[in-house]
Amino acid sequence: MADATFKETMTFRECVDRMVDRAIIASDFDPNTAKIIQACNVVSQIKFPVKIGNKIEIFTGWWAQHSSHRLPVKGGLRFAPIVNQDEIEALASLMSYKCALADIPFGGAKGGLCINPANYSVSELREIAHTFGTELARKEYLSPALSVPAPDMGTSSREMVWIADAYKNMFPENLNQGACVTGKPLNRGGIPGRTEATGKGIQFGLREFFHHPDEVEAAGMEDGLTNKRVIVQGLGNVGYHTAKFLSEEEASLVIGVIERDGAIINPDGLNIHNLRQHFANTGGVKGFADGDYIENAASVLEMECDILIPAALESQIHANNAMSINAKLIVEAANGPVTYEADEILRHRGIKVLPDLYINAGGVTVSYFEWTRNLSHMRFGRLQRRYDEIRGTSYLQAIEELTGKKVSDQLRNDIVRGASELDLVRSGLDDTMRMAFRDMREVMKRNSKITDFRTAAYAIAVAKIAQSYYDMGLAEPPTDVTT
Ligand code: GLU
Repeated sequence: MADATFKETMTFRECVDRMVDRAIIASDFDPNTAKIIQACNVVSQIKFPVKIGNKIEIFTGWWAQHSSHRLPVKGGLRFAPIVNQDEIEALASLMSYKCALADIPFGGAKGGLCINPANYSVSELREIAHTFGTELARKEYLSPALSVPAPDMGTSSREMVWIADAYKNMFPENLNQGACVTGKPLNRGGIPGRTEATGKGIQFGLREFFHHPDEVEAAGMEDGLTNKRVIVQGLGNVGYHTAKFLSEEEASLVIGVIERDGAIINPDGLNIHNLRQHFANTGGVKGFADGDYIENAASVLEMECDILIPAALESQIHANNAMSINAKLIVEAANGPVTYEADEILRHRGIKVLPDLYINAGGVTVSYFEWTRNLSHMRFGRLQRRYDEIRGTSYLQAIEELTGKKVSDQLRNDIVRGASELDLVRSGLDDTMRMAFRDMREVMKRNSKITDFRTAAYAIAVAKIAQSYYDMGLAEPPTDVTT
């Protein structure tokens, strides 16, 4: 998917740092506090052996804890062949800023294992994940109180179970052992709505954007999400769910999907369910009947559309293609898909960007709900669901008695029904996305030097983290950017 001829002048970590610098300068932040915040507290390289067939293989992984102003630190654990230390540090710092912006009381972390999962059998992968989990737990990088990994690129609920089992073997008496990872399957302490949480959060964030006509107009669009032409890069968990929710629930037209083997386009909108089915069966998008196949995937990134959603790797929009992007709004479903240099170009071109630390915060938000649920050892809503139903029935009876009229079955159901756990998760996620959006707008309204969502998001995050350092007596009082 990446452009082979392209060479960025800055590393991923440098890109994130420069974006933070921009926010620090725009909000007149104390430079010393900024330095404390930007430094990655801990990064460890872990090498461990696993017997694969008759041979011993040495695997290399990293765990980075960017900021432990709040504990536990939180972040995804990725299994990918391109993992490196600079990337993991960048991603860990993004997690700190993301959690701060979304008001999630965690520090930021990230882990990665340099591996191509496709080269190993399931039982080998289990052994590798289990050993990595044991190594992480031994160093206190896996702990419900200190450090809680989650699914990321190349990992899912399956890997989380393997890692949780490693922790359980070492600390069987820890009552909160289940909270050592999030993104677990439902029957292992997971929470409904976690798998699709990032995609749902993107849908909620986009809805919020379209609730503000001035933003929509400034992006050169009109009205809501209906019929908006969307191009999605990546049909993994995040890309798939985003495309699915936008096409099925918002009536947007997903006119292009870009994958490793090429892209599929259809100006009338693709059927995402069928495309995903095809992708699962064949390992690519080529040969999908209801669209035209384009071998040069990079050219589809530059195709005209309303909303471009990079949901795959980092650095996909860079100095060499930023001038050719033909979208009105870029939605960073992946972490770091736009480089610093590209971001500058897009800003000058007036193309709006909903930045990663805001728009893909749905995953960690629902991870937070899962972690809280694990500590309480009870599902959300268990105590009040039936009570709410009884109250709802009483209100309904009162309304019917007072008006002498019968309420429709649909309305009756809406009033009486107690919230399911999924309803509560979705409501909490929606609230988080709306509040963070409003905070970003508020900052842009108050500070004329801040004119884009990314700088606003970083300014808020840095101010919140600085407040924690200040409360600990480690920093100057932070600039008040939010109130
Ligand atoms: N991997 C996701 C992210 O990058 C989720 C992290 C989490 O749930 O802790 O935001």
